[in-house]
Amino acid sequence: MAVPKKKTSKSKRNMRRSHDGLTAAAYNECGNCGELKRPHHVCGSCGHYDSREVTVTAPAAA
Ligand SMILES: [Zn+2]
Repeated sequence: MAVPKKKTSKSKRNMRRSHDGLTAAAYNECGNCGELKRPHHVCGSCGHYDSREVTVTAPAAA
C-alpha cells in the first residue's frame, strides 16, 4: 500500500478542503399552487409540472 512520504501541512489540507463546502438547495415557487419546489422537479404539493397536472395526488393528504 502506498504510504505518504511527508505529513500534509495544515495549509495544504485546508487548501484541499476549500472545495468541500455544501451549498443550499435551490428552490422555486410552484406556478400552480405557490409552494416551494425544486427546479425541474414535479411539485410535491400539487403534482403539477410546466402548468399541467402530471401526477395524481391524494386530496388533503398533507
Ligand atoms: Zn404546486
